[in-house]
Amino acid sequence: MIMMQGKGVSQGVVSGKLYFLQRKDATIVKGENCDLGAEQARLDAAKETAIEQLEALAEKTREESGDEAAMLFETHAMFVDDEDFVECIQNVLEEEQCTAEYAVQTAGRQFADMFAAMDDAYMQARSADILDVSKRLVNNLLGIVEGGIDSDEPVILAADDLPPSETVQLDKSKILGFATQGGSASSHTAILARTMGIPAICGLGDALKPEYSGRLAYMDGETGAIYLDPDELTLLAFRDKSEKQQQMKELLETMKGQEDVTLDGKHVNVYCNIGSPDDVGAVLANDGQGIGLFRSEFLYLASEDYPTEEEQFLAYKEVAAAMNGKRVIIRTLDIGADKQVDYFNLNKEENPALGTRAIRICLNRPEVFRTQLRALYRASAYGKVAIMFPMITSVWEVKECRRACQAVMKELTDEGIPFNPDTEIGIMIETPASVFMADELAKLVDFFSVGTNDLTQYILACDRQCNDLGKFFDPHHPAVLRALKAATDAAHNNGIWIGICGELGADLDMLPTFLAIGIDELSVTPKAVLPLRNALRKCIAATCTLDLLEC
Ligand code: PEP
Ligand code: MG
Repeated sequence: MIMMQGKGVSQGVVSGKLYFLQRKDATIVKGENCDLGAEQARLDAAKETAIEQLEALAEKTREESGDEAAMLFETHAMFVDDEDFVECIQNVLEEEQCTAEYAVQTAGRQFADMFAAMDDAYMQARSADILDVSKRLVNNLLGIVEGGIDSDEPVILAADDLPPSETVQLDKSKILGFATQGGSASSHTAILARTMGIPAICGLGDALKPEYSGRLAYMDGETGAIYLDPDELTLLAFRDKSEKQQQMKELLETMKGQEDVTLDGKHVNVYCNIGSPDDVGAVLANDGQGIGLFRSEFLYLASEDYPTEEEQFLAYKEVAAAMNGKRVIIRTLDIGADKQVDYFNLNKEENPALGTRAIRICLNRPEVFRTQLRALYRASAYGKVAIMFPMITSVWEVKECRRACQAVMKELTDEGIPFNPDTEIGIMIETPASVFMADELAKLVDFFSVGTNDLTQYILACDRQCNDLGKFFDPHHPAVLRALKAATDAAHNNGIWIGICGELGADLDMLPTFLAIGIDELSVTPKAVLPLRNALRKCIAATCTLDLLEC
């Protein structure tokens, strides 16, 4: 038996075959005096395959998401045969007497640079398309099959690391658990795993080896341990834990339909965090009373180009309608830092967590912001939608956001499109500046929601992506809790409510402190709703203290 110890970031015990995700990076050789006839034939075959692949993708997308989404792949197929692009590849091939893959890569880069330099934002975005098409051609030329899980049975997916953009594209039905060499509990991949209710362990380091692929593993997402080919004793312990997991599940079932209230009558809204309309099923199954955070950026991460207003509207409308009058707080896109999207063409930054991310991108790119706000307001006609802005630091930012909302509402009114003019507007409290300015900010919005993941990162100057900061990254630090208290006082003094949508909200040990602080809402992953309700219903709010705010 081999035991590997990492950090458990999403609870649950599972067993299955380990599958190490192999990423194959293309090594492109230029070649010299190549046989141009042979290279041309390879290129023609690669193009033909690419067109077949893209047509199949367009078909699948049309069935799943409609004509507009399918158009992306049809456009890519047109690029493969684009006269100018093909001529450029041909020229490189002839001038350099090189391999077909080298010619494709060179021509692709030239075209991408040309698009990126254009003034029009739409044309700039085509730069990512041409790079995507070139990559597909190169992969076909070199016989590379990208990503995906090539297994008939569900597996424990192992990898060096899993960026969110890759995680959202994986086939969830094939994943029993995640195990990664890198990563941290506050990374978005860990958050995604919790939202999907899939056990996950990160920070396994070199102990997790690609050669373990195919071997039977037992993993415990709570303790962070993975056992390969477990011995009898370990198997017994696992069976015991699985049974307890099952018993707990049965106990929690009895919590469904119960009120989110303490023994002495203090009501706290228990809402859910989601990343896509697909997660609403889990919210309803776990009896979540609303959605406290819909991370809308995952729509952008799962897409190969800017999602259109219509695509976004349909996604938001689906969630709002499914929640049937319960509050649905949709956060405007929070791209940047660890959530990178190629087609946004963001500049490389030394410290992306302190760079152009979230609301800063929206305020810098009014067209992107307007499209999302139009979709959000349109969806507000179909349920109780609220809009929330992330990474706020300044009063002027909120004023500018509100102006953008006013402009969109005027457009929709002029166009005769229905929306709810009283749509609630909130902001995330996740920067120290927003805590210090909370008194002023509270006058401009309907609610606050504290992002404890980023708030901890920025208050304690600890990178949330970094796995080895250990005890230095501490969301329970009195500084974080005092910030929570200060923001709560500011909210209540100005007559608005405040919630927590960061991961700390699901920490049952912190519940008495949240009650003492006066938190009105906790938004957690769907799986955490019933344990939280169970704990809440055993608390007496009047006896809760602020002890943890002391050193
Ligand atoms: C947070 O920062 O706590 C939060 C909820 O937002 P995200 O994790 O998406 O940055
Ligand atoms: Mg955040």
